[in-house]
Amino acid sequence: MQLKNKTALVTGSTSGIGLGIARAFAREGANVILNGFGDAAEIEKLRAGIERESGVKARYDGADMSKSAAIEAMMTGALAEFGSVDILVNNAGIQHVAPIEEFPQAKWDAIIAINLTAAFHTIRLALPAMKARRFGRIINVASAHALVASPFKSAYVAAKHGIAGLTKTVALEGAEHGVTANAICPGYVLTPLVEKQIPDTAKARGISEQQVIRDVLLAAQPTRQFVKIDQVAGLAVYLASDTSASTTGTIIPVDGGWTAH
Ligand code: NAD
Repeated sequence: MQLKNKTALVTGSTSGIGLGIARAFAREGANVILNGFGDAAEIEKLRAGIERESGVKARYDGADMSKSAAIEAMMTGALAEFGSVDILVNNAGIQHVAPIEEFPQAKWDAIIAINLTAAFHTIRLALPAMKARRFGRIINVASAHALVASPFKSAYVAAKHGIAGLTKTVALEGAEHGVTANAICPGYVLTPLVEKQIPDTAKARGISEQQVIRDVLLAAQPTRQFVKIDQVAGLAVYLASDTSASTTGTIIPVDGGWTAH
């Protein structure tokens, strides 16, 4: 139990990678605060399931990560109940695929707000209690797109490169206070976020959905396989643990070799 008596807040944890990370943290003994959208009954099932399986406290806050006031209320509530957020995972994210000259301005704004600015808010609000306790683990779920670009993903690539810079800055500011900050950069993981972009990528490139999977998504990864959620969650557990104290400011690919090209 590497995370016993710790509290972890994982944004965007009602689905995909965030849910996998929250479950992995709970299995290691951490209390977890879930966040994200979805059907209320389904989310309650997920929350209660985590408590039942892991014997930890699991809470849910539906804060919209594009709204700073909602983020502030979520962080205040978490700090009031648990005293600190020892482990903060900025994971909530959205995607939109379109050529830049057709890219809807509202989508640009939403992607920058949710994939980048939200992390600025959660970090600035979590840091004081982390510094006071001399322990903090900030984990930003970035992407291979924090290191390389792909066409038709201008806002996403800009936000993910931005979060890499934010990660390094926070690492420097936290270094003498027991606070680490690292970014995990997954390659393609078959979650709803990726499933939803297959039809738009097919349209933007003028190819079939099967060709998108084979010739665009998996072609990027030398392993020719999707990355598994558990493989990302395993790294998150390490970065959240005491053992990782000297690992800070890193941008770590979990991408089947994509960014080794
Ligand atoms: P997902 O769609 O399965 O999950 C996204 C989560 O974010 C959901 O819980 C959703 O409700 C939540 N969310 C979306 N908008 C929100 C908002 N405004 N406020 C609060 N929550 C919101 O996607 P995923 O693939 O698990 O993605 C998680 C993270 O991993 C994202 O940051 C994504 O960019 C990153 N990522 C994913 C892949 C991949 O291939 N799936 C690869 C690299 C990086």
